[in-house]
Amino acid sequence: MFELPKLPYQNDALEPHISKKTIEFHYGKHHAAYVKNLNALIANTQFEKMSLEEIVRNSDGSVFNNAAQVWNHSFYWNCLTPANKSKTKPSGKLMKAIERDFGGFDDFKESFVKQSVSLFGSGWTWLVSDGSGKLSILRTENAKNPLTMENTIPLLCCDVWEHAYYLDYQNVRADYLKEFWHTINWSFVEKNYSSCQG
Ligand code: MN
Repeated sequence: MFELPKLPYQNDALEPHISKKTIEFHYGKHHAAYVKNLNALIANTQFEKMSLEEIVRNSDGSVFNNAAQVWNHSFYWNCLTPANKSKTKPSGKLMKAIERDFGGFDDFKESFVKQSVSLFGSGWTWLVSDGSGKLSILRTENAKNPLTMENTIPLLCCDVWEHAYYLDYQNVRADYLKEFWHTINWSFVEKNYSSCQG
């Protein structure tokens, strides 16, 4: 049985960027429902003994959708932090790679935000690395994620499903992106990058 992982901060900790109410619904209802659905779907199946990552890589349909959404949301909560004020940009290797692969931090930000805002329907925007450390921005629809892709390591994600922002920003995804940017946990992103280079 999978459990809803504990949030790495209090549910009001991302205010004013992401409200307590949004966290209560997004984490407490949506993420929790994916966990509950997944447990019901895999009971007495070959998936029961697999890790979450194994299920994501070996399933399709409802099992895939719920398993991937469980994984995506756990990753997403770790991509955010109330302590962003102390670190508003990445540094070191990651910053150098962003400058190399996007032309500069502002160019990267512009591209990530633009691709997030223009993704049609529900999905996710990712900063990913290949095994050699080359960065790119990836968009996935619905529950899809980089775990099922060759040589694609997730470093950062943004949930652009409406449920991620509707309570705070209604239909204005661009406003959510602006605020999302203020809460990114760059230390987490850097850690993901350092652990994926050979
Ligand atoms: Mn979500």
